[in-house]
Amino acid sequence: GSTIGIIGGGQLGRMMATTARHMGYSIIVLDPTPDCPTAQVADDQLIAAYDDMEAIRQLTERCDVITYEFENVDLQAAQYIEAKGKLPQGTASLRITQDREQEKNKIVESAQPVATFNIVQAKEEVHDAIKSIGFPAVLKTCRGGYDGKRQLKLESEADLVEAADFVEKNGRSIIEQWILFDKEISIVFTRGQDGDITYFPVAENTHKDHILHTTVVPARITESVESKAKQAAASIAETIGVVGTFTIEMFVKDDAIFINEMAPRPHNSGHYTIEACNVSQFEQHVRAICGLPLLPIYFHGAAIMINLLGEDVASFMQYINEIGKGHIHMYGKKENKPKRKMGHVTYIGKQLDSLEQELINTQLIHTK
Ligand code: ATP
Ligand code: MG
Ligand code: MG
Repeated sequence: GSTIGIIGGGQLGRMMATTARHMGYSIIVLDPTPDCPTAQVADDQLIAAYDDMEAIRQLTERCDVITYEFENVDLQAAQYIEAKGKLPQGTASLRITQDREQEKNKIVESAQPVATFNIVQAKEEVHDAIKSIGFPAVLKTCRGGYDGKRQLKLESEADLVEAADFVEKNGRSIIEQWILFDKEISIVFTRGQDGDITYFPVAENTHKDHILHTTVVPARITESVESKAKQAAASIAETIGVVGTFTIEMFVKDDAIFINEMAPRPHNSGHYTIEACNVSQFEQHVRAICGLPLLPIYFHGAAIMINLLGEDVASFMQYINEIGKGHIHMYGKKENKPKRKMGHVTYIGKQLDSLEQELINTQLIHTK
């Protein structure tokens, strides 16, 4: 059979590898940490840094197809693999999602709505940049942030000193208008090498301390918002030439959407697809990169996914053992740290209202 290489050894790689092995593929993961979550379910691991070109050469030699589980793949490494004809996803998705400036420009180029933004290169530019945006706003580094890290909310003039320090320390950054959204949603979809797209149902996401906490599906949005979300996905996917599973995070305000950011890979908010759909975001991704036709997607009706962070695991496991209903996923991380994603639980049902009521009654989820 064929061998798939995965760059990055976290939980996304682990779930990708588990699925790919069911389908008969062998897996080699590249990650610097021995026995990382993906290595535990892979056939072999290359223990090396992600930008170690010798390891990249070896991986390319030994694999038929290579993919990644995170977007900060070294671009030179990605270009090398692409030149060898083994990176069906290409490098454009990576280049664009590695940098918020390029990402926002692509969204605009795709004629899709974003919060008003300005790029600042140096601290002197902060003052002018905020003028056309106003307060509240948010300052984010163009590269490298996740889980709300390297972001600063700007409420008033008084925050501009801190903002200038932030830019001096972090370099090129983006200032965005703060959207007073009604809710956050995401759309996970897969685009095949032939350009076919399948969409998973739109998910509604709640964050806690900037980290995804709960995903509820189907999102409680109007048909008009749902079709805007799908059109945005189609248009951005075409502009970039996406291959594989891809995710777009959005804000919903009344009948409007604003694109927040995107990820060129399966996403935490798509984990519900493992149990709640006939084909998961991981399986569809493997099909896309291996050149198999995508499967039509059927959804069972309702899903609620809750992330298990380090500090939640003990109490949650107790609940789960008592109730015994959720589908448990643990990622095999060795060290339990607060705020670290250790696993998730998915509840599925036919109907969202009753599923949600059940979980509220058991205090597994809280109403706002
Ligand atoms: P991720 O872990 O999803 O990659 P990230 O660190 O890249 O997160 P964002 O998704 O840009 O960060 O922002 C984190 C959260 O902060 C968003 O999900 C949203 O709740 C809030 N947020 C970010 N930008 C804005 C904005 N312009 N208006 C309103 N809320 C925002
Ligand atoms: Mg992000
Ligand atoms: Mg985000």
